[in-house]
Amino acid sequence: MLRTLFLAAAGSARLGRLAEIAPVSRGIVQRFVAGPSADEVLLVSRGLVDDGLAVSLDHLSDETRTIEQAVATRDEYVAVLGRLKGAGLTPAVEVSVKLSALGRRIDEKLAYEHARAICAAAAEAGTTVTLDAEDHGTTDATLETLAELRRDFPSTGAALQAYLRRTEGDCRELATAGSRVRLCKGAYAEPESVAFPSALDVDKSFVRCLNILMAGEGYPMVATHDARLIAIAEDRARWFDRSTAEYEFQMLYGVRPEEQARLTGSGHTVRVHLPYGEEWYAYLMRRLAERPANVGFLARAVASR
Ligand code: FAD
Repeated sequence: MLRTLFLAAAGSARLGRLAEIAPVSRGIVQRFVAGPSADEVLLVSRGLVDDGLAVSLDHLSDETRTIEQAVATRDEYVAVLGRLKGAGLTPAVEVSVKLSALGRRIDEKLAYEHARAICAAAAEAGTTVTLDAEDHGTTDATLETLAELRRDFPSTGAALQAYLRRTEGDCRELATAGSRVRLCKGAYAEPESVAFPSALDVDKSFVRCLNILMAGEGYPMVATHDARLIAIAEDRARWFDRSTAEYEFQMLYGVRPEEQARLTGSGHTVRVHLPYGEEWYAYLMRRLAERPANVGFLARAVASR
């Protein structure tokens, strides 16, 4: 029930505006979100990099409905990439991008041009871009965009979602030299016709995908907080004779920081997915929906004021 409540709140713009002016917001948000602007995200990135972590920045934006919004998102990414370079934070810090935020729903070609501009800025800054995976209706278009971007920017990566029935096949296609694939379970509500409905089947699919990626020639990016899947990934890497430089783990900022430190301590690259921006509210509600135990943190934040 709590999950439903938080997901409903994530979609409520009115509640979002209320939360932004509520006095308790800051402490709660800071656990999962770097801050509203590039200044804060640079500061938090610096701390994470100094702790031996890699970072992927994610600019949070409202659903993009106008060309102006899409252009503003492109400009934000280009500007932050310039600042990352200036701050000496590349290549440790890269960026994650949603094609929908770049205007895909308005004009596919425009979104592609925006993605190209971001890839060019990333190349200039000496770092990389990873395309986020969105709902299943966009998977083909995202993978086509990836293929086009990789012609000029071969290090561009993409996320694949283990809950989709098609993903084993996509992993096979992408397990090639120079390819960077982020494997995650998947975060959207999808129909049974395209996605495994049970958590166990999603986990089994994750392991099959992991086997393909670890056996292949690309660079697997294992994005999960699931202790069992992390252990299996370490095991498969040993089995396929991969050094810790030949794959990485990825986790969300604020989630299982002690596990992030353990993996870093054992020589792994751990990339923290670090969101920032004014539109933090829906993102925060989704994190709370994923794990109602996080509500305890929220309650403590309220009590301590
Ligand atoms: P779960 O089964 O959700 O969790 C396993 C265990 O991890 C839990 O039992 C708990 O111990 C711990 N845990 C999980 N969440 C939390 C939390 N919030 N707080 C504390 N502990 C927690 N999804 C997409 O659809 N597209 C993407 O592009 C995408 N990119 C991602 C990038 C990164 C770096 C990560 C980590 C996730 C991404 N996701 C993406 C989200 C992903 O698909 C899952 O929804 C999310 O990661 C939860 O799955 P999990 O693998 O952690 O397993």
